[in-house]
Amino acid sequence: MRKKILAALALLMGMFSPLEGKIMEAANFHELEKHVTEDTLVLLDLDDTVLVPAQMLGCDVWFGERVKKHQTEGMEASAALEKALAEWESVRHITKMKIVEKGADLVIQTLQKKGRKVMGLTLQGLALATRTIQQLQENHIDLSVTAPNPGDYFVTLKGHGTLFRKGVLFTSGMNKGEAFFKFCETLGLKFKKIVAIDDKATHLTAIETEAQKRKIEFVGLRYAYSDIHKAAYRPEIAEIQFKNSTFARLLSDEEALAKLKN
Ligand SMILES: [Mg+2]
Repeated sequence: MRKKILAALALLMGMFSPLEGKIMEAANFHELEKHVTEDTLVLLDLDDTVLVPAQMLGCDVWFGERVKKHQTEGMEASAALEKALAEWESVRHITKMKIVEKGADLVIQTLQKKGRKVMGLTLQGLALATRTIQQLQENHIDLSVTAPNPGDYFVTLKGHGTLFRKGVLFTSGMNKGEAFFKFCETLGLKFKKIVAIDDKATHLTAIETEAQKRKIEFVGLRYAYSDIHKAAYRPEIAEIQFKNSTFARLLSDEEALAKLKN
């Protein structure tokens, strides 16, 4: 009897909480399409979801390693982070970026042609904004096409600046959920449903938490496609690239591997 009552209660709760968020795994980028309805806003993470550096140097894993390295060598946590960030941004300014999964550009273009609202949401800092937008364009992605607003906006959150440019919100390391909704509320934007795709579950949870507070339907797709790529990262290759590349040309993974073998 007790079991039956609990089952009935669970069913009722399910029936009466249609706004409950969902986070699930997505093996491929195109899985995004089936969750997008007419009144959906699509939020795209950029790094490791849409674009990755053409070589191991400059990827997210490399950045994390640089922070650890500086700390191991005696730097304070915040100084180590700042130094690694400076190195990472330098590489990101000069590197070529490539698309993570073939066809992701077409999925984005298809959604845009249908008139679905699409924008980028990245932890990247403001200094990279213009360069990142260029790198997206080099990969046939223009997130300004159906962005919720065509303009450029500087919005502060807890004393930190975030920048919305050409359809991408650069949160500068700020919580993605808080930064996104601060941006929406500043511009008076409202959405019935949000679908976000990100390779990191923590960011999806951050957006979900804020969406639930506002009773907005949320679907989070934890993008798994780049997991293999991330696991294939080799610190010794990135180290050779870091030490032997020039401003004019970064060593490719193949070139670094050949150097390593010699
Ligand atoms: Mg990412």
